[in-house]
Amino acid sequence: MKMEVLITKEKLEEIVTDLGRRITEDYRDKELVLVGVLKGGFIFLADLARKIDMDVKIDFISVSSYGNSTESSGVVRIIKDIESDVSGKHVLIVEDLIDTGLTLQYLKDLFNTKGCASVKLAAIMDKPDRRKVDLKVDYVGIEIPDEFVVGYGLDYAEKYRNLPEVYIIRET
Ligand code: 5GP
Ligand code: MG
Ligand code: MG
Repeated sequence: MKMEVLITKEKLEEIVTDLGRRITEDYRDKELVLVGVLKGGFIFLADLARKIDMDVKIDFISVSSYGNSTESSGVVRIIKDIESDVSGKHVLIVEDLIDTGLTLQYLKDLFNTKGCASVKLAAIMDKPDRRKVDLKVDYVGIEIPDEFVVGYGLDYAEKYRNLPEVYIIRET
């Protein structure tokens, strides 16, 4: 395996600080629930929550996509649902990376059936070249090329989630 740094710690911190500031401005005086998408979204959510300067509630949903492991099929299975009642609340879904967009499309539709005041999406990384559905992500950290990445929550066979930087990983 060959690994090459794509996004440094410093850059990640800068991106998350900026997103946190925008979210704070946009949601001031609203009841906001951050819903982290497990497992990949856990680091981004933890960092983002600390850059949001207002009261927020935090919940998690764990999903798994049917089909092969490198590409999502759009058929999403809920492994663990949220625990709170989000009706009437403003929900921000916090995801590590948007690729085809199928996972976030599914989650957005799901939360739209729960009577939320609003449902918006945040992803720290975006691979726009890979999109299969026309989906608006309200808060995007950074666009990245169509390469497989790990670190900052993202895994390869459950490894590398704890790396503080984002790496491109290639078979050698
Ligand atoms: P999609 O947008 O295609 O439904 O799926 C996005 C999810 O697939 C991401 O949240 C992430 O979990 C996984 N994924 C997509 N691209 C990559 C990648 O380059 N590296 C890793 N580790 N996971 C990825
Ligand atoms: Mg994910
Ligand atoms: Mg994965």
